[in-house]
This record gives sequence, C-alpha cells and structure tokens, in this order.
Amino acid sequence: MPEKYTVAFLGLGHMGGPMAVNLVKAGYTVAGFDVVPAALEAARTHGVPVAASAGEAVSGADVVLTMFPGGRHVLDAYLGTAGGPGLLAVAAPGTMFLDCSTINVDEAREAARLAIEAGHRSVDAPVSGGVVGAEAGTLTFMVGGDKADFEAVLPLLDVMGKRVVHCGAHGAGQAAKICNNLILGASMIAVSEAFVLGEKLGLSHQALFDVASAASGQCWALTTNCPVPGPVPTSPANRDYQPGFAGALMAKDLNLAVNALHSTGVAARVGPLAAEIYDTFAAEGGAGRDFSGIITDIRDRSNAQGNPADVAASGSPAAGNPAAGVPAPESPAPPGSQAAQDDGSPE
Ligand code: NAD
Repeated sequence: MPEKYTVAFLGLGHMGGPMAVNLVKAGYTVAGFDVVPAALEAARTHGVPVAASAGEAVSGADVVLTMFPGGRHVLDAYLGTAGGPGLLAVAAPGTMFLDCSTINVDEAREAARLAIEAGHRSVDAPVSGGVVGAEAGTLTFMVGGDKADFEAVLPLLDVMGKRVVHCGAHGAGQAAKICNNLILGASMIAVSEAFVLGEKLGLSHQALFDVASAASGQCWALTTNCPVPGPVPTSPANRDYQPGFAGALMAKDLNLAVNALHSTGVAARVGPLAAEIYDTFAAEGGAGRDFSGIITDIRDRSNAQGNPADVAASGSPAAGNPAAGVPAPESPAPPGSQAAQDDGSPE
C-alpha cells in the first residue's frame, strides 16, 4: 500500500466524524460516507471530503474503515444485504478492511473470514477513549489481525490514537475491549453499591474515597470516574452524569461480553448480572447518562425499599435511613484531597 493511503471512511457518527477529520488533517486522502445525510453534512462541514455512496467511497480506496453501531451493520455492508452493492465486491483486490466498530468477537471473525475469502485484508480495531479521544486523536486501539496487516494500519491508527495494542489474531481486538469493559461495568456497580452502603452507615463520601482509593478497593471506577460528586471533581457525577461513557454503550458492551461468555462456556455470574443491571438502567432513562449514574438507581431503589429495621418496627416500608450523621446523597465532599487522575473516559 502507498505511504499515505486513500481511505474510504464509512460511518461518520459521534466517533467516526472526528476520527475522519483527524485523518484529513494528517494529509490522508479520505472519501467519507454515512447513510444519515446530517452526519454526512456535518463531516463535510468539518473538512472531510464526502462521496455520494458507499460504493463510490470504496472504489479506489486502499483502506475501507468502518465505524458502525454494531456487527450486523458491518456484515450487511460487507455483503450488500442492506441494499446497494456489497463493499467486498466493490473494493479492488487486496483492499484493507479495517473495522473500528465495537462488535461481537464472532462477528469480527466472520467479517475477517469474508474479507479474506473475497481477496482482501482484514483487521479489527475497536477503540476506547470516547468522543473526546476521537476529537483529540488520543484513542486507544485494540487490534486483531495478522502482524503484517497490523503494521500496515499502524500509521493510520497512530494519527487517530495515542495507544495501539496488537492483541492477537482476528477478533482479539474485540475480545480485549469486551473483557476490559466487563471489568469496568462490574467494578462501577460495586463502587456504587459501596457508596450507597456508606451513606446508609453514616460514612461520608470523602472518608470512603480517602480510604478505598489508597486501599485494595482502588480502581478506575473509583479514582477517575467516581460516581459521587466531590472526591474527583472531573468525574461525570459533578456534572449531573453527563457522559463520559453513556449507559447505553455500557449495556451494549456488557451484552457483547455475555454473548462471548456463553459461546465460550465461561461459568460467569457477575458479568450477566451486570449486563442485566445496565440494560435496566439504559431502558429507564440512563441510556444517555454516564454509566456511573447507576449509583442513582441503586440509591433510589434502596430508598424505595426502605430500611429493614424501620419496616420491621412499623410493618411498612420507610424511605431512607434517618440515622443522624448520614450525609445527603448528593452533598459535595469537603474540598481538598483529590485522587491522582488518569485522563479521559474508558470509551
Ligand atoms: P453513531 O451511531 O454516532 O455512529 C455510527 C454511524 O454509522 C451513524 O452515523 C450511522 O448512520 C452510520 N452507519 C450505519 N450503517 C451505515 C452504513 N451501512 N454505511 C454508512 N454509514 C452507516 O455511533 P458512535 O458513537 O460513533 O459509535 C460507533 C462505534 O464505536 C460503535 O460500535 C460504538 O459501540 C463504538 N464506540 C463508541 C464510543 C462512544 O463514546 N460513542 C466509544 C467507543 C466505542
């Protein structure tokens, strides 16, 4: 492939739009396309040359980069089952199919198999770092594919990201992404339950934070994306849970993890439960909120069901725990100690 490839960039949404802009700024020849006219227009306004169709973008491209909502979109576009010609059939032989969407591991392997069968090359490279990372060119790419193909796309990924990890064969990028987000989803639920329990026990947010952030409870969900306002002023909890990493995306990624847990026969219990919890969160108004907003759900459910001691005494559920000294759930913690910060969001 030439040093600066011609890139067909398909899927110019929240992530794809700014990623395409960064490629253009770095001097790559880009032909962008999105099925939603508003997304196409927004990209064009930001300097991305756009094509009239996916087929037009792909013909003459060295790399076909897809940034779609899910695996079905990727496979349908490759095969042409969504209407219009299949991208695999339109592309010149030997074209690199680089899928950066977050999809099932099995779908990623299937996409690679189809691309290679059609005479092309294939790499899966899902990302973390969110829209902020996409705009700043600081994404992390988790890459699955042959070493030679990894090296071929590396310069391109280096433009859009600050960290690129070759995780193994086709599908390994997706595998790394969902394993990481399984840890993240489960740990955010655990951190949130601990804060609500602390509230019930009369522990201030700051006291729990000061202990756990320097003890064995330390984790990213606590020290960077802390689900209560105060201890980490940059966490989404301080801006009414504006994402960040949206609840809908956490639910999506956990369900991808559950699919993989089932297909590989892992005897997991926490992962499926975490997926269920985030499905409910997303369905009940949390889809567009940061995933750390799960704490408000846990708190609301706790208050609705009341304190068992009060229930036993009165025979009916009471709201909350009236114990003296319990901090107001959303009260900011005293100024002062702030954890060492990582940058950015996981997504
Ligand atoms: P998005 O919905 O904003 O963008 C996806 C775009 O793909 C849409 O504009 C849609 O119209 C377009 N599209 C769908 N089918 C198409 C087709 N056949 N041809 C051309 N365009 C098509 O989603 P997003 O937030 O940009 O996320 C994209 C992917 O990145 C998802 O898989 C998501 O899970 C993953 N991701 C998102 C984030 C995030 O913070 N938004 C972070 C990490 C990973």
